[in-house]
Amino acid sequence: MAIHSHIGVLAFPFGSHAAPLLTLVRRLAAASSSRDIIFSFFNTEKSNCAIFSGQEFDNIKAYDVWDGTPEGEAFSGSHFEAMQLFLNATPGNFEKAMKEAESESGMKISCLLTDAFLWFACDMAEARRVPWVAFWTAASCSLSAHMYTDQIWSMLRSIDAAEREEKALAFVPGMSSIRFSDLPGEILPEKSESPLAIMIYKMVQKLPKSTAVVLNSFEEIDPLITNDLKSKFQNFLNIHLSILSGDPPILSGDSGQECLSWLKKQRHASVVYISFGTVTTPQPEELAALAEVLETGEFPFLWSMRDNAKKLLPEGFLNRTSKFGMIVSWAPQPKVLENPSVGVFITHCGWNSVLESISSGVPMICRPFFGDQSLNSRMVEAVWKIGVGLEGGVFTKNGTIEALHYIMSNETGKAIRENINKLKQKAENSVKLDGSSTKNFKALLELLKSSTGV
Ligand code: UDP
Repeated sequence: MAIHSHIGVLAFPFGSHAAPLLTLVRRLAAASSSRDIIFSFFNTEKSNCAIFSGQEFDNIKAYDVWDGTPEGEAFSGSHFEAMQLFLNATPGNFEKAMKEAESESGMKISCLLTDAFLWFACDMAEARRVPWVAFWTAASCSLSAHMYTDQIWSMLRSIDAAEREEKALAFVPGMSSIRFSDLPGEILPEKSESPLAIMIYKMVQKLPKSTAVVLNSFEEIDPLITNDLKSKFQNFLNIHLSILSGDPPILSGDSGQECLSWLKKQRHASVVYISFGTVTTPQPEELAALAEVLETGEFPFLWSMRDNAKKLLPEGFLNRTSKFGMIVSWAPQPKVLENPSVGVFITHCGWNSVLESISSGVPMICRPFFGDQSLNSRMVEAVWKIGVGLEGGVFTKNGTIEALHYIMSNETGKAIRENINKLKQKAENSVKLDGSSTKNFKALLELLKSSTGV
């Protein structure tokens, strides 16, 4: 079949943004009827290396774009400085690579599929007269909160600072259990000048012009929020990728066989799995409190921890706990969570982690740090009721023991386990033949195929 659609995929190369976008693209490229589409995947060299791990996929070609570091300089700054440099280099870095892909393939780009953060793709798509499909890498609740930024600001002007802590977002559909204090910092006036907040606010203004907004989730998780967002966008497509794709996790070349074999030897629902995602490491005092609880309670644990964080653990911890615990620098998280020996997930509540936990029916203990994590955590605790937070919001010895006992106990943890299993079932239903995720996936595929590059 002749190729007639050339999709330009623009990734945001920080945190775990690019990996789920590639998962979506791999799934689209593999859909048997989509052999008539090619995908050019534009991303920084570093992020491309991490997510492709040297693998090649049919109909997908990776292109490296400039990350903004001045030529000849080695970058040694923070995550946020790297992001600022990259943003300064956009959109010119993408334009340059897109021209290269068009000349190599001999086909104009017929549609842009981009990380939603890259708001300027709206203007690029308009100039090229092609559709813009925006991929939001977090939950629908945080997208909704951002879409209501103006209303949130006017409400904030009318209440005292002291009221913020408990005041609910009653005017946002589906968010009546959410407090102002749960909102991502970037929505609040104090942070409105940060590069991230500016970028997201521009995105909020552009998204209604997109042809579709796609996200990795399932409609049934938040029917009120879903319906409200459907009224704001031309197409709002929840596609549950974790279940739909069945792909091996991207991001690491390490298959993690060792920890999967270790998990197989553990008792049913006994293991505490701990991970704080790809960006965050808790402060040493908190790590010490968590480590002490695991050690004194002899909780079987699997802890995914970057090598440079291990030095923050109490001295001798690794040796003393090696009989019942395991620390790895990277875990194949979706497979870990699927293992029946895992009883609880201690998480920072990044959206991918929350969704993977739901997909496996594993209750959570939430320790959010920044961005959308507090909002996700509040949804987990107060709306879906599939996990608990920590007393005072941080790891302390007593608070952590209390949370672990609460979840692991047959009695107190029962309702939470039942709730998460019901949600897991809804997630599974969404990817059945007539399920909402399947329908939305087909709609997206049709949309991409109907774009024609000459
Ligand atoms: N992840 C993993 N192994 C690890 C740590 C993380 O596979 O040891 C994956 C995890 O499955 C998830 C992603 O990294 O898909 C983390 O994304 P999330 O949105 O939860 O957090 P972020 O990294 O964006 O803070």
